[in-house]
Amino acid sequence: MKPAANLRNLGSETAFAVLARATELAAQGRDIINLGIGQPDFRTPDHVVEAAIKALRDGHHGYTPAPGIPALRAAVAADVLAHRGVEVSPAQVMVVPGGKMTMFFAILMFGEPGAEILYPNPGFPIYESMIRYTGAKPVAIALEEDKGFSFDADHVLEQINERTRLIIVNSPANPTGGVIDDATLDRLVEGLEAWPEVAVLSDEIYARLVYDGIEHRSLLTYPSLRDRLILLDGWSKTYAMTGWRIGYGIWPQALVETVDKLIVNANSCTNAATQHAALAALEGPQDCVEEMRLAFDARRKAIVELLNDLPGVRCQTPLGAFYAFPNIEGTGRNAKELCSALLEDCGVATVHGTSFGAMGEGFLRFSYAASTENIRQAVERIGAYLGKN
Ligand code: PLP
Repeated sequence: MKPAANLRNLGSETAFAVLARATELAAQGRDIINLGIGQPDFRTPDHVVEAAIKALRDGHHGYTPAPGIPALRAAVAADVLAHRGVEVSPAQVMVVPGGKMTMFFAILMFGEPGAEILYPNPGFPIYESMIRYTGAKPVAIALEEDKGFSFDADHVLEQINERTRLIIVNSPANPTGGVIDDATLDRLVEGLEAWPEVAVLSDEIYARLVYDGIEHRSLLTYPSLRDRLILLDGWSKTYAMTGWRIGYGIWPQALVETVDKLIVNANSCTNAATQHAALAALEGPQDCVEEMRLAFDARRKAIVELLNDLPGVRCQTPLGAFYAFPNIEGTGRNAKELCSALLEDCGVATVHGTSFGAMGEGFLRFSYAASTENIRQAVERIGAYLGKN
């Protein structure tokens, strides 16, 4: 067979490989603590599950309109107004099977040989993978540890040229938990006014998971970006719904027809019962979101303190998402080697920083979407291992 050459450029998401290996070891009877996979360890709230069951019982078994059922698109628009203070039309809301599909479509839409796309590094691995797949040139936005894994806006602006098509921003971020402060966003947006043809993909899937009194600032709030900004969000992280596969994009009106075509070509529509569940999530009680956030916050504080006590490890306090991204250079080990040793020798699953880009060398990602007891035990095991090795 002769598969298309550009498939060689496609990367992957190491977290899934770690999950597979962790599951394999657990099946062999090993006691594995999984701090590798990036998903809430909570159950989807009961009223959301019930809404999906009811939808199936009520006969919602067929295709829906490609961009989603009208009630859900309207509910998303209302939610964007409530949480981001920006009015968008339900017609701009494109419901897709997972937040990932919005980035997939956005990068497909702007990537091609000769084009350049800026993306955060270390960052969600699919950005770089998809940019390479399209033949575009990936241009890294370096996230800096001593800036809380934010970036220098002027440095980013200097990397833009007439070949730049898209710039990807992710705050709060995976894998670092970093949040980009308002002053940096202001400066970036101000500079982007000189580049009116550059589109922006703002991945805000962790928007509701911020701590220490921080308020999430959406790039959608900047009027000068309004007609070239693609907002990515969804239900996976906010409502513990990763396995349901649903997310949404808010697209500029000028791109809506193209997204519609991509949806029809790729998946026809998103699972009908899942859309009803997502509607219940938005319209139902919201205490579950705050309860989960508070639990993550307590674990965040615990894990940062524990990691900072390990020899050769220093960990910034992340301000968002549910990841800690400690610097492990002081252990004298590289990220991949240490990650593998921790899984095989201590039964602790993490993800090495290099799986999020070359700039992740020297770091490990810990997902603290696990019980405080498991976090404590995991770090204890790592401490014992580092003490001996
Ligand atoms: N964007 C970021 C930054 C993520 O970390 C993830 C998932 O881990 C996604 C998007 C994709 O979310 P979903 O599971 O809804 O496709």
